[in-house]
Amino acid sequence: MSSLLVIGASLAGLTATETLRNGGYDGQLIVVDPSPQLPPDRPPLSKQVLSGEWDADRAIHRSAARLPELDVDLRLGVAATALAAAPIDAHTRAVALSDGSSVDAAGIVVATGAAPRHLRNEPSHGVHVLRTMDDCLALRADLEAEPDRVVVIGAGFIGAEVAATCRGRGLQVTMIEAAPAPLGRVLPGELGAFIADLHREHGVDVRLGVGVDALEADGAGRVRSVRMADGTVIEASVVVVGIGVAPSVDWLTGSGLTLDDGVRCDESCLAAPRIVAAGDVASWPNPRFGEVMRVEQWENAIEQGEHAGRRLLAELDLGEHPGAFAPVPWFWSDQYDRKIQMAGRPSGSDEVVIVEGSIEERRFVALFRRGDRCTAVFGVNRPRHVMQARMKMVESLDWVPVAGLFG
Ligand SMILES: Cc1cc2nc3c(=O)[nH]c(=O)nc-3n(C[C@H](O)[C@H](O)[C@H](O)COP(=O)(O)OP(=O)(O)OC[C@H]3O[C@@H](n4cnc5c(N)ncnc54)[C@H](O)[C@@H]3O)c2cc1C
Repeated sequence: MSSLLVIGASLAGLTATETLRNGGYDGQLIVVDPSPQLPPDRPPLSKQVLSGEWDADRAIHRSAARLPELDVDLRLGVAATALAAAPIDAHTRAVALSDGSSVDAAGIVVATGAAPRHLRNEPSHGVHVLRTMDDCLALRADLEAEPDRVVVIGAGFIGAEVAATCRGRGLQVTMIEAAPAPLGRVLPGELGAFIADLHREHGVDVRLGVGVDALEADGAGRVRSVRMADGTVIEASVVVVGIGVAPSVDWLTGSGLTLDDGVRCDESCLAAPRIVAAGDVASWPNPRFGEVMRVEQWENAIEQGEHAGRRLLAELDLGEHPGAFAPVPWFWSDQYDRKIQMAGRPSGSDEVVIVEGSIEERRFVALFRRGDRCTAVFGVNRPRHVMQARMKMVESLDWVPVAGLFG
């Protein structure tokens, strides 16, 4: 049999690699990634590594540590540049690589993740995004120089964590969000307001409901200020742009795969015969929620990487069809001394019911209700409660048993 090719050597790709090898595939297993070193585990990049608490080499994910046992042909510094639209034969597709070679692959895992969005005309110095270890170390170096003010643009989870970490370093921080509340994409107003208040209590200057017009630079090209859409100008020595990511799919243009908010898969993570996708790059209909979703979360990258690996083994007649991928997605975020966790798939229009603690105490559990369904659980410093609710939601999304956990 010809080779299997895993494209992207981060969380989803390496988890799929492990699954393929441990599931019985014993042929050539090639893994490519343009990163010159194995990509890091990303959550510590906005937390422990950025704060200086950890050295960079501690941010390694567990599959990376197991790689030497897997007999993998790992090609770092090499990107996939194109997937041929026409198969070579019924089983094989050619993938062009950035080193000029190409691989005739009998099976492909697309795990190319996502890349940060940028603002237009960013000055060349003092402006950062946060995705890679290099991004993190460059930002950390700027923070170590004790800038007068850090401006964080975007109050999503990455922006909010960066703001918290900068405050932990004793820096002055302004956090700007164009939406009326932080995390507006995922949380309804009252929980977004809680996040804004949490940051204000820790000394962050939070500006909501106003967009950024331009980043202004000094004569040396270093950012100097942020001009807002309402005309306000905020002095800035360092700017962090946290305005979301775009799935890394440009290289698949013309491949014949459906590209629609990432690589569109079927319920089982199959994008085309013998091609699966997983992690931040994959969108798929999750039958549990009756919704097409793309999930940018750590645990999803692991679970979907494993599922996609099993699905590819089934395509190769090396394993059982794993069925639909139907998780209750879950993530955490650390901000100050609060551990924020959410499981499920809420929408801003769901009813929010506080079932434990209170927002005022900064320790609570909220359930999201849509009709007779519980769509999500959100907890602050309540990890056990969130996990119990999530496990109940895995059994069923019916409101009554989930709410019943909280008497
Ligand atoms: C700073 C930060 C903090 C985070 N914190 C949390 C958290 O607290 N909780 C949580 O749940 N989630 C968190 N996340 C999200 C989580 O880390 C991601 O969901 C996860 O990394 C996704 O893994 P992935 O393998 O799908 O994609 P990625 O990690 O993006 O990896 C994709 C890989 O594909 C490679 N690639 C791209 N294009 C090509 C190509 N053409 N050819 C070959 N390879 C290619 C890239 O170089 C990259 O290494 C955080 C993310 C970041 C950036």
